Amino acid sequence: MSENNIISIKDLYSIFKFKTTEEINVPEKISEQIIGQDKALDIIKKAAKQRRHVLLIGDPGTGKSMLAQALAEILSEDKEQVKNLEDILVFPNPNDEYQPIIKTVPMGTGKKIVEEMRKKVLEQTKIFQYFYILLLLISAFTPMYFYYEGNYIMAGATFIGFMILMASISFSFQVMQKQIMKNIPKLLVDNSNRTSVPFVDATGAFEGMLFGDVLHDPFQSGGLETPAHQRVIAGAIHKANKGVLFIDEIGTLRPEVQIELLSVLQEKKYPIFGRSERSAGAMVRTTPAPADFVLVAAGNLETLEKLHPAFRSRIRGYGYEVFMNSEILFTEESANKFVQFVAQEVKKTGNIPHFTKEAVIEIIREAQRRSGRKSYLTLRLRDLGGLVRLAGDIAKSKGKKYVEPEDVIEAKEKALTIEEQISKYYIERRKEYQIIKTDGYEIGRVNGLAVIGSRLYYSGLVLPVEAEVVPGKGGREITATGNLGKIAKEAIVNVSAVVKKKFGEDLKKYKVHVQFLQTYEGVEGDSASITVATAIISALKNWPVRQDLAMTGSLSIRGEVLPVGGIIAKVEAAIESKLKEVIVPEGNYNDIPEDLFDKIKITPVKTIDEVIEIATGKKI
Ligand code: ADP
Repeated sequence: MSENNIISIKDLYSIFKFKTTEEINVPEKISEQIIGQDKALDIIKKAAKQRRHVLLIGDPGTGKSMLAQALAEILSEDKEQVKNLEDILVFPNPNDEYQPIIKTVPMGTGKKIVEEMRKKVLEQTKIFQYFYILLLLISAFTPMYFYYEGNYIMAGATFIGFMILMASISFSFQVMQKQIMKNIPKLLVDNSNRTSVPFVDATGAFEGMLFGDVLHDPFQSGGLETPAHQRVIAGAIHKANKGVLFIDEIGTLRPEVQIELLSVLQEKKYPIFGRSERSAGAMVRTTPAPADFVLVAAGNLETLEKLHPAFRSRIRGYGYEVFMNSEILFTEESANKFVQFVAQEVKKTGNIPHFTKEAVIEIIREAQRRSGRKSYLTLRLRDLGGLVRLAGDIAKSKGKKYVEPEDVIEAKEKALTIEEQISKYYIERRKEYQIIKTDGYEIGRVNGLAVIGSRLYYSGLVLPVEAEVVPGKGGREITATGNLGKIAKEAIVNVSAVVKKKFGEDLKKYKVHVQFLQTYEGVEGDSASITVATAIISALKNWPVRQDLAMTGSLSIRGEVLPVGGIIAKVEAAIESKLKEVIVPEGNYNDIPEDLFDKIKITPVKTIDEVIEIATGKKI
């Protein structure tokens, strides 16, 4: 795709021809609802055709579970596949009560078999039932009353006798009931009335839920025990037979469980046995039950490390591995997909108003912001869907017919991530204590920019750095927590090289003290190195630094300014703190959305020389 196809937020006002998302068609099929994952979707289609397993790796909320459902949907399009579904029954084993027998029958027949057998057994036991009823009647009329001086009186002893009789009758009924259970099979997997192949989501399932289990029986003898086969429970692997089994966060499965799952994939069937050791169920193990499914396993990048090598190699050998897109190029085509997405989420949610064109544009602006780059839109759509719903609720609570841009903006405020809330809190507190200077000049003090939070949820923050450079041997002293300390050390090494080259001075002859003001756990200063360098040079040369300026960039040993992450969040933090200008690496310049340029002066730089000149007015 060429650069020319990239569009900007402003273009959307003329590109979009709809008034509200009410006019937008939402496809019925899940496969057509998935946006931005064309490569993954292609592979899902292939996997469906060949019945291969798939491993989906990517950020949460990018559509992995939707893809798994799409696979089941595609399998179901082949009516033969649906017709060939099976019911699974478990029968008592007359030769070994601890090994119930699994049988499969065409779908819809399982229920009938159980019903017919129940009728037959009831028929057989009818004679006993009559007998009991007769006994009941006799007992009710004969011994309970006796004749005393012209009156019938119920005697205490007879009353107790009556109770005992009743109890034994009810006990016998129970025993009879269990007898019936003993002789009829249990329907483990019922696929009657199915029009599509099963889709089973076993994310977070315990082993018992995944592989099946045999329940504990509190009465293990005495006629009241539940027959072993009636205590058998099917697992997700059996329910997914001839369909799709989806397991997200596959890395959280213990290695033993992964290996167990691997053997299911190989055998395509697996016996059900009791999983808790001290339970009466532990003695029971059925014959193998069918478990022939397409596995869609999912997770994030860290998952790969936690996958058992044998398990992964099975999927690689007999299936596909796909890396999900986390973002998509901001083109007219993808913008239109986002319109569909908003319409889809509104429809799915059901009770929120549709969005106006301008409100959709506000959502896309947020998708751009969350991608961290101007020419991309984030595909972490679960989170974005949350924003759509929240904006919808806000508009609804105001009694509006449609969601408008201000509702989306309000929702963004309310839907701040923890990281954003923290950075907001810091910004407020710092304003109170006036830690951030926004005007005047200072020697050795520079407003840097940092991010807080992880790669996925970060927020920007102004992070002032102070340096002192005093003649005399003394080495370095750095006041910073965690990662920042490491960055400061690296920055000092690089700035030493620059200082030597530019001023012919050896920093080793000075005691260098660098301090990050008011840092907190979680603050990442990956890009603080030009800030540290500027503070040191300012302190060394006694050059005052502009305090209405913030900067971000990584310093190379040759004095170049290299691009950094989180550029949008950082520029936003400078705006939020009311600074006048922000220095950014040239390499990041094109990642910054246009609307930020109206709010602050953004100056791209290539070298530390330019940084020093802008910050202090001096040429080096
Ligand atoms: P994952 O399995 O990757 O965590 P899901 O497939 O469960 O994500 O997606 C959660 C929700 O987010 C979906 O129900 C849908 O509303 C939305 N969503 C996520 N990814 C996409 C996508 N690629 N296209 C459309 N909607 C998506």
